[in-house]
Amino acid sequence: MKLMGVSISGKMTEDLPPHVSQTTMSLISAISDPVVVCKVTGEIAFLNPAARRFLQDIGTGGSDAVEDASILDLFPDNVANLSKVMSLCRTQSGIFPGSLQIAHTDENDRNQSRLPFQGSMLRLQGHQPSHVLLRFIASSSVSRHQFEELNATLRKKNRQLLFEREKSRKDTLTGLWKRSTLFSELPRYIQRIEDQERPTSFAVIDLDNFKEINDLHGHPCGDKVLACLGELLLQECRSLDKVARIGGEEFALILPNTSFLEADKACQRIRERIKQTHVQYEGHEIQITASFGLTEITIGETAEEVYKRADYALYAAKKAGRDKVAVIEPGSSRSRITQPENIQISKEHP
Ligand code: GH3
Ligand code: MG
Ligand code: MG
Repeated sequence: MKLMGVSISGKMTEDLPPHVSQTTMSLISAISDPVVVCKVTGEIAFLNPAARRFLQDIGTGGSDAVEDASILDLFPDNVANLSKVMSLCRTQSGIFPGSLQIAHTDENDRNQSRLPFQGSMLRLQGHQPSHVLLRFIASSSVSRHQFEELNATLRKKNRQLLFEREKSRKDTLTGLWKRSTLFSELPRYIQRIEDQERPTSFAVIDLDNFKEINDLHGHPCGDKVLACLGELLLQECRSLDKVARIGGEEFALILPNTSFLEADKACQRIRERIKQTHVQYEGHEIQITASFGLTEITIGETAEEVYKRADYALYAAKKAGRDKVAVIEPGSSRSRITQPENIQISKEHP
């Protein structure tokens, strides 16, 4: 934290009259809040240890400073507030409250803190008011600042943790959810069907003859194809859909608020888009197709049951010649190959 606009030099003064008792000094020194004793003219006469630390904290120069400095020099932006309290202290007995506005800059921010203080008259020389005691209620202000700093640190750490957590939930090649994430999230989606009484569909997608691509063009080419497919799936799905890579060249979709009929249209559209995609790799155009196993989730079933059914449908799509969508309808145990009619260009399904 830097106090704005203050520059002082010299050494700390304890410019009190010689007869001021050690007891008075000790009492002021023992106050845990910062205390500044000024002459009535404003020149600083004495700082207790808390005040030295405090001035150091707020960036005024620390333990060897302030010779000949006036309290007004220390806080040039608050001359009016300080002068008002000083003036009251010079003329009246009592404790007079005031507050300073302190501008400080943190890493990225420029903040204002309010620093309350109390002023009172001291008669250290005879019976006339000779000094003014200013007690800064800094304990709250400093701890507030520390609290803000701590909060900022915690916020940063939390962001980092969230980032790490999100990263650990994702597949590194495609940035999609990985298998374990899908299986930990799927039960929530199954529960929502019951809560919201809206259908949700689930599909598994497997690239056709992917091994050939690896064999023909090498593993890095296969990786590029997987990354492209991941991107394509994200592009083709709505924001509330979830896409996961659950195995080597196997992906899964959760399609909330979507019946199997609507999901079938979406899968046919995505299947067609995959077929039209030519992945460029070292001068080669790699053509790909994928097979889909689709099902609608029913209330009360487990994630494993849903996956098993969709996988069973996928097997049927492969068996039927690949580049197909197969569906197992609710209440049925049989898979059916669907037809690519009425392919909608819009990705909004329904
Ligand atoms: P099918 O149409 O029956 O699905 O045939 P396929 O060749 O796609 O399936 P198969 O299971 O025979 O081969 C899958 C291949 O995917 C084999 C494996 O080496 C490859 N593979 C798995 N993970 C990765 C990966 O992360 N990167 C690459 N490049 N290849 C992978
Ligand atoms: Mg495959
Ligand atoms: Mg496979």
